[in-house]
Formats: sequence, structure tokens, C-alpha cells
Amino acid sequence: MNPVATVCQHPASDHIGSVVHGNATVPPAHAAHPAAAADLWMEILRRVSSKLPRAQFITWFKNTAALGLEEGNLVVGLPLPTFLTWHMEHYRAMTLEIAREIDPGIRQIIYTVDLGLKDDPARTVDLLEHFPENRRRKLPGRQEVRLAEGIVSKILNPSYTLENFVVGSSNSLANAACMAVAREPGGKYNPLFLYGGVGLGKTHLLQATGNAILKHSPRAAVVYTTSEDFTNHVVEAIAHKKMEQFNRRYRTVDVLIIDDIQFIANKDRTQEIFFHTFNTLYEERKQVIISADRPPQELHLEDRLISRFARGMIADVSQPDYETRLAILTEKAAAYEIFIDGAVLQFIAQHVTRNVRELEGILMQAVAVYELEQRMPTVRSIAEIMKKLGADPLKDAEKTGFVQAPRRKPTFQEIMEAVSRYYSVSVQDMIGASRVREILLPRQIAMCLGKRHLGMSFVRLGEAFGGRDHTTVMNALEKIEAKFNSDPHLLREVRAIEQEVGVV
Ligand code: ADP
Ligand code: MG
Repeated sequence: MNPVATVCQHPASDHIGSVVHGNATVPPAHAAHPAAAADLWMEILRRVSSKLPRAQFITWFKNTAALGLEEGNLVVGLPLPTFLTWHMEHYRAMTLEIAREIDPGIRQIIYTVDLGLKDDPARTVDLLEHFPENRRRKLPGRQEVRLAEGIVSKILNPSYTLENFVVGSSNSLANAACMAVAREPGGKYNPLFLYGGVGLGKTHLLQATGNAILKHSPRAAVVYTTSEDFTNHVVEAIAHKKMEQFNRRYRTVDVLIIDDIQFIANKDRTQEIFFHTFNTLYEERKQVIISADRPPQELHLEDRLISRFARGMIADVSQPDYETRLAILTEKAAAYEIFIDGAVLQFIAQHVTRNVRELEGILMQAVAVYELEQRMPTVRSIAEIMKKLGADPLKDAEKTGFVQAPRRKPTFQEIMEAVSRYYSVSVQDMIGASRVREILLPRQIAMCLGKRHLGMSFVRLGEAFGGRDHTTVMNALEKIEAKFNSDPHLLREVRAIEQEVGVV
């Protein structure tokens, strides 16, 4: 069977690269030099990998292969049709230049789509194995670290840093305070008290501050603990009559970080002990950093504790706005080393509004889809994931009354682009003549939206869609209306697109 898929016509390509139709220009097997081509490709990959951000490199060069090298023509196989446009637009010139550096005899690169490459490790290079990541992402197995004098701290997660914390209006004060504390522990902002709802970045900031302090002063005794652990230690010390030892130990700490202190409310004995520990540290100008889910005065803590907190710095973290959510997603996607289309990130940022943890959760799902199924996440696949997780973007919008800022009417071009992104077909194809189902449906939907929201006439729609006759447009609209009636999923999809262009 011929493994080369026919790919759609690509607009005029110059002499540097051309697109193969069927197997017309693939060199005959007997003339190709697969081994030489494979070696060349390996070296090209190596050089490309040093020029591109890793996420891009892995995403777009995975499952690629050199299929042949004949008279200066390097035939490069790509696993999916979407890769073709992308390589032609973004990597062709660079790849050719690199190929020529290695072998000046290379004249051109011919791209071809070979769907078989996706499941054929024998023909492709395992990029993750050959180009391992330098950074280590795995956490050490230990949960706790024992400091001098038998003090125990939870291990700080090295992936929480101040550098990768995205700052927006919702957290800028908290972030600035943490930066100041990191620069000068025990200085002006002591104690530092951060509060805010679940999943808004408190733990991240606390641990990042601890990490930053340790970076400057590796020998500092930085203790990070939760109020639950702190309570457990108190209870244990009391039970074993080791309070003296407990006090001595905690008082040798340079930086004490207690996460989620709300849990010591109503625990009188623990509070008392904490108060004394706190006082001693404070007097010795040691830094104390605390987080809670609400401000100090709402915590049901003793008054003297509350007034101590009030002497330092109190900052809240609140729900991030759209821009911050988008920036966080972009940052996290880069950290997962996955290239996700901007439109997809925007869609997630628009619909997941409550907290950052949820935002990350959806992103992780997208990463999983990508890794397991080798599919680039699309607005559509994300909308489906969100529905499965019970966070139906459309239903939620109704329930929570979350409405986007009032927008101007979309343009026809914007509608076309939204449909194109949702169904992963190009605008050109929608306007073009193809009648395959994958294109027919988006085309009909785009027509329908043009009519519905821009009031375009059949004639104008016909013109906008490559000079079609108005009766053709009428027929298409009838067909899509009929499909709406029989297919509730379709209605939902159209709603998602309508939401994206801001008309519902
Ligand atoms: P909290 O402790 O407030 O419940 P976390 O600190 O555990 O929240 O944050 C939940 C997740 O969201 C973490 O993975 C964290 O890295 C991420 N996160 C929250 N805010 C930000 C931000 N501004 N920039 C980057 N990541 C963030
Ligand atoms: Mg937390």
C-alpha cells in the first residue's frame, strides 16, 4: 500500500520546497538512500533543536522522517496534514539552510504527508530520548527535610518560583511583598500575611519565597509547614512532654512559613504555642510568612495574634482577570513544553474563571489529549473536555451570569476565523470548492452565522464564499437548519462559536 497521503494543493511554492501530490514526485524507492537520509535528518534535528524553543521543536518535529535523498532532493515525511502548512510557513527556510550547511549538495526539501509515520517508531526519531530535557522536572521522593536541631520542614517544590509566578492586578501586592521578603528576610514586611480563596496562588508564593531565600542563603533554616503539621508537632511534643525541646527547636529557625493557618483557629493550645514561637522569632527579626483563606480579623484567632499580624504586611490574592489567566496559561503551557494554539488558550482563559488550579487542570487535560492521542488540542476538543469535567462552558455562563465585556459586532472575517479554529479547517478551504464533509459543515455554519448575526443576504454570502450562486447559499442554509433540528450537539457547537465571537 502506498503510505503517502494525498495532500491538498498548496499555493505556489518556489523552487525551495514543493508539496507532493500522491506519490507523483516521491523518488522511486530503489533510487533513494534511506540510511544517508536518516543520518542527515538526525543531524538536522540536532541543529534545529538548538534553534527552536523545546516545546515547538518537540511538537512539530515529532514523528517526522527523511524518506529519501535523491539528487539533492531531500524528501521529508510529516505525520499529519496540519504539519504541512506549518512547516511550509515556519520551518522550511530554516530546515533547508541547515540541510545545506551539512550537505551543500542539497537543492531542495520536498515535504510529503505520510500518515503511517505517526505509529512507526522504526522510521522516526524518538525526540524525547535523543534530545533529553536539561531541566529536571521530577520532584525528589522525600516529602520532608530535616534541618539542624531536628527541625522538620516540608520539601519546597522547586517548580514554584517567583520568576514563574504571573503577576496581575489580582496578586501584584502579594507578589511585591514576597519579592521584598525574598530580598530582605526579617525586614520591613514582617510578618507577611497573605490571604485569598482556594487555588489562587498562595502556596505558590509562599514556597517561591522560601526557594528564593534559600537561593541567596543556602544555609538558612527555612521551615515551610502547614498549620496542620504544626499542630501535629505541638500535640506530639505535649504528649511526649517535650515542649522545651520543641520551643528550642522552632526558635532556631530563620524563616518560618506556615501555610493555611486557618486550621489552627479553635485550637487554643496550638494557638498559644504558635504565639510564643512567633513572638520569639519576631523579636529576633526572623521572618514569618503566613497564609490563610481569609483576612486575619475573620480568622477566629486570639486578638493578640491578630494585632501582631496587623503590624506586618497583609496582602490579598484574588481571582485573576482574563489577561492574567491567559498569561498564566501561556506560562504553564511553556512549562509543560507543549505548543498550544493561542485561540485554545484564550478559550480556556475565557471560560475557566474561578481559580488558577482549575485553569491548570483543564490545561493538563489538553496536554494529556495531546500526549495520548497525538492530537493538537483545539477549541472544540477543549470544550468537550470541559463538558466531561462538568464545567460546561456554555451552561456555566448561563448559571453564573458570567458575561463577556460588551463587544462590538464581529466582522465576517472574525466569524470565519472562529469557525476555522473550532473545526480546524482553513478559511480558504471553507471558501473553496471542496465538498468533503469536514469542510462542508463548517462552511454551512459560517454562512448561517453570517446570516444570523451580520444580516448578510444570500447574494452577499454567495460573494463572500467565493462567488457562489445565491440559490446555492439558500440550499446550504436550509440544510444546516435541518441539521440543527436533528442534532443537539451541533447546536451546542454553534453556541460555542457564537460565544467566542461574542454574539451571545
Ligand atoms: P492556593 O495555595 O492559593 O490554594 P496554589 O498556590 O496551590 O493556590 O495555586 C494553585 C496552582 O495555580 C499552582 O499550581 C500554582 O502554581 C498556580 N498558580 C496560581 N497563581 C499563579 C500565578 N499567578 N502564576 C503562576 N501560577 C499560578
Ligand atoms: Mg495552598
